[in-house]
Amino acid sequence: MDKKITIAIDGFSSTGKSTLAKQLARHLGYVYVDTGAMYRAVTLFAMQKGYIGEDFFNKQALIDSLDAIKLKFLYNPDLEFAEMYLNDVNVEKEIRTLGVSQLVSHVAEIHEVRVKLVEQQKHMGEGKGVVMDGRDIGTIVFPNAELKIFMNSAPGVRAQRRFKELVELGQKVTYEEVYKNVIDRDYIDTHREDSPLIKAEDAIEMDNSYISKQEQLEKVLVIAKKIISN
Ligand code: C5P
Repeated sequence: MDKKITIAIDGFSSTGKSTLAKQLARHLGYVYVDTGAMYRAVTLFAMQKGYIGEDFFNKQALIDSLDAIKLKFLYNPDLEFAEMYLNDVNVEKEIRTLGVSQLVSHVAEIHEVRVKLVEQQKHMGEGKGVVMDGRDIGTIVFPNAELKIFMNSAPGVRAQRRFKELVELGQKVTYEEVYKNVIDRDYIDTHREDSPLIKAEDAIEMDNSYISKQEQLEKVLVIAKKIISN
């Protein structure tokens, strides 16, 4: 029987990490874990409690209430992916808003938040056969992952993709706002003290500005299958 491996996908905002991760998981029969959804759900919790807003952030209040945050992924067979639940409420739509995107990188800077989520992520990947995407998967969560991919693409291409996604979700946003958010998040994510976004030394770099999703999937599948059968 083929061995099961761990696939870690990291990279900048809106580089199509989750699209690739979902496709890979489907092809290999693996579990897909979107760690960004977890940071987004914690951010939504902080917003609901009034701990964070456009110009304020009571970090200590969030840290003190971390035990009250229960995160869970529940597979939706109709959508063919696992949706995010915050304290047993499906928050899949709420966590994808631009409002959450504008605050999430500040929440993700907090050490105590990262400790809690990384522990849960490690646990989810214990049995291998997992594709996990995020910013620190190949460096911190699974430094021994058998396959690591680091994704990038031109900022304009990424903002355009994200803008289209948000418009399709019915959100009223401008391209300029989305572009600014992509750039701002990349800056905070790469400059934070705890687990900054960096390419793991042994990660394969992929720039998908000008290749199709299908081409990208095929390339990575070849590499993954080689590792699995070795
Ligand atoms: O992947 P997504 O764009 O949904 O992630 C939202 C934010 O969550 C990122 O911009 C980053 O600040 C944070 N994040 C993180 N570490 C991860 C996944 C996401 O810091 N592993």
